[in-house]
Parts: sequence; C-alpha cells; structure tokens
Amino acid sequence: MKITQVETIYLRQSQVKTQCDSGQDILIVRISTDAGITGIGEVDSSPMAAKGAIEGPFSHTTTAGLRELILGEDPLETECLWHKMYRQNIYSGRRGIAIHAMSGIDMALWDIKGKALGQPIWKLLGGGFHKSGIRAYASSLFGATPSETNARARRFRDQGFTAVKFGWDPMGRDETTDIALVREARQGVGGNADLMIDAGLVWDAKTALQRARAFADYRIFWLEEPLAPDNYEGYRRLCESTDTRIAAGEEESERCSFLELMDKGKIDIVQIDLARCGGFTEAMKIASLAQDRGLPVVNHGFTSYINVAAALHFLNAIPNSFITEFVSEESTTLRDVITRQRIAASEGVVPIPMEPGLGIDLNEEALEKYAVRL
Ligand SMILES: [Mg+2]
Repeated sequence: MKITQVETIYLRQSQVKTQCDSGQDILIVRISTDAGITGIGEVDSSPMAAKGAIEGPFSHTTTAGLRELILGEDPLETECLWHKMYRQNIYSGRRGIAIHAMSGIDMALWDIKGKALGQPIWKLLGGGFHKSGIRAYASSLFGATPSETNARARRFRDQGFTAVKFGWDPMGRDETTDIALVREARQGVGGNADLMIDAGLVWDAKTALQRARAFADYRIFWLEEPLAPDNYEGYRRLCESTDTRIAAGEEESERCSFLELMDKGKIDIVQIDLARCGGFTEAMKIASLAQDRGLPVVNHGFTSYINVAAALHFLNAIPNSFITEFVSEESTTLRDVITRQRIAASEGVVPIPMEPGLGIDLNEEALEKYAVRL
C-alpha cells in the first residue's frame, strides 16, 4: 500500500469567541492510499501554520514539508514515517507546530492501519484495559460568575457525570473570586463527585500553593496548569509542598518536553493531547515514560470527535489510564456536525470505539459548509 494524497481541511465556526475553547476551528488531515483506504486525523494548533508545515515544499534535508516526505510511502510503517518526518524537520520542528502537524498525520496513518487490518486502533496498540468503557469527566470553562459555574455544575451532575472539571477565566482575577468559583463548583456537583480545577496558567508558585491550600476545603481531585508551562522549578516547589495532585502537559509536544515536566517539574498527572503531542506513535512512548515513574496519564482534548475517539483508543491501550476528558462546552457547535458519529457519555461513562481504525467518518456536507476557502 502507498500514500497517494495528503490533504488538509480547515474548518471554522462563523463565530469564534475570545475564550479558551479550541473547538471553534479545526484542522483535519486526510490521507488517501492506492488501496482505496482513507484515514483522518486532527491537529489542534494554529491551523494555518500547521497546514503550512504539511503542505510546504522541501527546503533542505533538515526542513521539509511533511506531505512531500510521506507521499509514496507505506502508511503502515508508522514508526519509520514518524522518524523520517522528525529527522527531516530537525531545524524547524522538534517542538510545537511541526510536531502538532505530525500528530494529525500520525493519527490518520493509524486510522488507515486499523481499516486495512480490520481492527480498532486500541487493539493494534496492544490494548484492552477499559473494554466496557471508560469513566469520563465533563470538561467545561467556568461560568462567567461563581453562581453561573454552580448552575453548569448542576447540569453536568444531572447528566450523570460523576466527575467534572472547570477551567480558565475568571480564575486568577483575585483570591475571593478564585475561592468562590471552586466553592460553587463543589456545591453544584455535589459532595460525591470528583472535581478538577484547571487554573489556566495564572499564578506564580507561591500563589498556586496558597490556592491549593484554600481549595483543599472543597476536595479537588487535581489542580491543572496553575503555572506557566516552562516554570519547572515552580512546578517542583509546588508539587513538593502540597498533597493536591498537580496536572499538566497539554501545552507540550514530543516526549522530551514531557520528561522535563515529569522529572524537573515533578507533576502528578500527565496530560497528553493526541492532536498535539505527536500522535499515537509518540503518545504511547510518553505514557510508557509516565508509567515508569508511577504517574497516571489522562488525555487532553477540547476539539472534535476525531480527537475524542483517538483519546479513547489511546487510553484503552495503556495501563496507567483511569478517566477521559469529555468536552462539554456548550458554545461550540462545530464538533457536533463535522463527523457522522457523535460520541456521548452515558451515566458518566464513554464507550470504547470498536470499529476498525478510529471509527469516525467525516460528514461531507458539514465540511462543505464550514471549510475555509483559501
Ligand atoms: Mg487544561
């Protein structure tokens, strides 16, 4: 089998709000083969920059467009192709956008592999740890006020979720607001649910420690990204000073960045986004490094059902997974229309995809409607 075409499709909602919701526009990678099998993947990044990394020309042996590197190659050779793309972008792509772009390509290649072999990706990765489904946490931005956050939390509880996460603005405005947001979130989800708080990179280490202590009254399960991602020393001081679990990783791409967070930052929970970290091929290595350090892994995903499905395959293939992020942000409409499948949680549990490949098909009419013409 040979790769015959690599396309990028950029989709965008008519209204994109100034908020931390990365599902408002989406870059899809579609790879075709001479066997008639097509695979899809997703990139969660700056879409046009990632598109350029894929479609750009060959510049020299250490900077080359990714499409050109894989055309004509065997899509089943996922490890070889990952290394070819990495090595030939060593100037321009060891972290960030080129790795993001490679994530979408790698995801599509695994989709092709699954379809070619008639197996779900999790099985090809050797998995089966959560065959009956995996517990999901509803993931949402905070309401504009503490009381709006309370109302959202109640809705998620009524939907059957037993774990809920709130994140980003207005967390970080001031101590009173920060504590009120967490208090109302806890009140809304009830006493038994697990509550996660995503601070959204807002504090220094000492402020984060003060908040972790204050939030302890509301029994949070983890505190996510309280510090800037490169503040490894701050993460280390924080993690060594609190018994609240500290989670991070969604800003990272490629395993060396995760090693910094784990070994220097001493984080407690490793968050991996399949559409950003380097795809399945790299995510499995990061999960293994985390497992060696006794750390649980969770996915990060705030985009389409392509990435949700990818995360489910991945989490089902590693021993150190226990819960999945399930985006429940209500203002995003794109994810509900661009794929034929809509993955849903029932009583707070999401089923594992059983179809060959990712188990996700694009909705061509929606692509037509939302594609940005360039
Ligand atoms: Mg986050």
